[in-house]
Amino acid sequence: MWFRRDLRVDDHPALAAAAARGRMVALWVADPALLHAPHHRAPVRLRFLRACLEALDAELADRGVRLVVRSGDPADVLPAVAREAGADLVVATADVTPYSRRRDDGVRAALGEEEVGFECIGGPWRVAPGDLAGSKGTGYLVYTPFWRAWEQVPVDSRIAPPEVLDGPVLASEGLDMLPAGDAPIAAGPRAARERLEEFIRSGAVDRYGDDRDMVADDGTSHLSADLRMGVLSPAQVGRAIGAGKGLRASRVPFWRQIAWRDFYAHHMARHPEVAGAALKPAYRAMEWDDDPVLLEAWREGRTGFPLCDAGMRQMRATGWMHNRARMVAASVLVKDLLVDWRHGEAEFMRRLVDGDPANNNGGWQWTAGTGTDAAPYFRVFNPVLQAKRFDPTGAYVRRWVPELKDVPDRFIHEPWRMDEATQEEAGCVIGRDYPAPVVEHAIRRDEAIARYKDADARHAAELEAAA
Ligand SMILES: Cc1cc2nc3c(=O)[nH]c(=O)nc-3n(C[C@H](O)[C@H](O)[C@H](O)COP(=O)(O)OP(=O)(O)OC[C@H]3O[C@@H](n4cnc5c(N)ncnc54)[C@H](O)[C@@H]3O)c2cc1C
Repeated sequence: MWFRRDLRVDDHPALAAAAARGRMVALWVADPALLHAPHHRAPVRLRFLRACLEALDAELADRGVRLVVRSGDPADVLPAVAREAGADLVVATADVTPYSRRRDDGVRAALGEEEVGFECIGGPWRVAPGDLAGSKGTGYLVYTPFWRAWEQVPVDSRIAPPEVLDGPVLASEGLDMLPAGDAPIAAGPRAARERLEEFIRSGAVDRYGDDRDMVADDGTSHLSADLRMGVLSPAQVGRAIGAGKGLRASRVPFWRQIAWRDFYAHHMARHPEVAGAALKPAYRAMEWDDDPVLLEAWREGRTGFPLCDAGMRQMRATGWMHNRARMVAASVLVKDLLVDWRHGEAEFMRRLVDGDPANNNGGWQWTAGTGTDAAPYFRVFNPVLQAKRFDPTGAYVRRWVPELKDVPDRFIHEPWRMDEATQEEAGCVIGRDYPAPVVEHAIRRDEAIARYKDADARHAAELEAAA
């Protein structure tokens, strides 16, 4: 059993299949191609991963086997371990990223040469991409019809964890190739289940529809990193909230978010090219400024747009950012600073404990208007209006941008409007303690719209010329 993004023993179709065949080895491979890839060099996520692997090892040990860790190219490691173990089959959970599919093809071929089989069973999603093909068989590009089809698919029954596991004892390298230190949140299946149970027991799941956008209220589940590493399956989440026919109306908004996760995974499975380029061909040749000074100001939370800066600083400090702040920060980067969304996507991957290729890419392309957002490009977030709506008291901004903590409520989201005396009184002089906005929103908004329009026109002309 080759563990990847499925670090649990409960509700695990691939592990159950491996255990049902008899003796087995539980393997995790430290793949340098992933660990050294710039967008995976994320200390916070690697610390969490290490803690999840340690928790998995403990769960396996309770059942009789230990996790074997080996580093190297999986196409070399898997045949070598199969040989040592005398295995005739490697079982894994499927994945959707272009890299994981190339890797799995390589592993399948290498194992094939040794007459060892390779089978992927189940996936990190709730509904497999092939099961939701849409009326044309090409999947869904728009979320709402996807959701309607997705919610009709019954939640799978639980697959109980194997009680006893048995197999040859192989040497293991340990986990020192991953950074040690406290994980940003409690890690492992038990911690994840407790988070989920608390989210339900406290009633937060039933208030989610009202609270989820209020950045200071922390009304969301914080399950993203658990789902990212597969210490919790989306089906476990569904069963816990009573998903299926008769799901309480108050819980539907939360279940819809779990469907977004599948939506983006399906999307990447069918359109692997989104991993490096805009989904909408017209925007592949967009003109970006990519000003390094503005990009750095954004990274460090010094754009002068308080909600954007608060989000970026929350992410730097904790490895997590509220979804509404993610949308606003992404929009500021792309539509105000005119920086290519791929720079933002990479920065999020390096900072987020839940950094997930499909969800992150989907979120960035949605915000940049290059992906699956049904709204037209000329609907641009206004970072000040967003802040007034979703952080009305400024509590979130004050928490993460302490220079602004004594700014009066009416200026908290537009501190540059304070007169000099008010700035002195608030201990926040603009330009000294906190920057003025690095660009003017109204002007940059028009510039962004003009560039999208231009990209559209050029694309239409190219299509016409080719016809
Ligand atoms: C620019 C941008 C980048 C993002 N990058 C990531 C990422 O790398 N990894 C990631 O897991 N999410 C990403 N998201 C989606 C979302 O912001 C996070 O999933 C969410 O904030 C995690 O907090 P939570 O677990 O409390 O979410 P909840 O609101 O409690 O939602 C429950 C679960 O549903 C899923 N989910 C919620 N919203 C979305 C969404 N919009 N898209 C896909 N899945 C969703 C997550 O798995 C989440 O844990 C991104 C969103 C944007 C706008």
